[in-house]
Amino acid sequence: MQGLPSFRINEIFLSVQGEGLHVGERTVFVRFYGCVLRCVWCDQPEALTHTGVGEYVQMGPEQVRDRVLAYPSTRRVCLTGGEPVVAPTAGLLWLVRELKASGYWISIETSGARVVEELFEWIDFWTVAPKGTSAETFEGDVVEAQVPTLRRYLALPDSRRQFKFVIQTREDVSDAIRILDGLGYRGSVVLQPEHERGDGRLIFEVWPWDRYPEARLIPQTHKIVGLH
Ligand code: SF4
Repeated sequence: MQGLPSFRINEIFLSVQGEGLHVGERTVFVRFYGCVLRCVWCDQPEALTHTGVGEYVQMGPEQVRDRVLAYPSTRRVCLTGGEPVVAPTAGLLWLVRELKASGYWISIETSGARVVEELFEWIDFWTVAPKGTSAETFEGDVVEAQVPTLRRYLALPDSRRQFKFVIQTREDVSDAIRILDGLGYRGSVVLQPEHERGDGRLIFEVWPWDRYPEARLIPQTHKIVGLH
């Protein structure tokens, strides 16, 4: 609304949720432009500033709401990116309140590298996706770099949160375990093979199922069925 800063939006589209525990659910995606990280295997280079292929349109929160509402027969929306939590907070809060008032179930996908606690009460379901060494996005140890911020996400109830690890290498598996151990994490864990070089069989073989038996191995299913 008037006075609220606009967003940089890469795209808004209807598809099915292809990743994680809510896989298969018909969902409107709002993809925000820009991210604080630079994962080398990011599958959304069009939403990043440094890749040379990034693109966005400037949209006010009201325009975004109206685009979401225009899709019929779904009341599920996913805020994704890029990194949605670094969009202007006042605009995000306005948008999520409006969508909640219209009956939407709202999910969000974040790296967990930033925290906007005002959003915690409004978002129904959080996907927090820490990064392993193969992403080449942190200097130094990936666990030390991420655990202090990730700890803040432990405030969310288990039913409203999943930690999702994109895994390309055996080292990524070790990183994921060290992150979970460092957090003392108990809750939903999704292991997602990296889209080009990830190997689900490797993950299946080396994951410590005795220690984290509830983890789920789920690939990007929307790509399997040919959806965006
Ligand atoms: S955090 Fe996500 S959006 Fe950002 S660069 Fe990494 S994979 Fe891409």
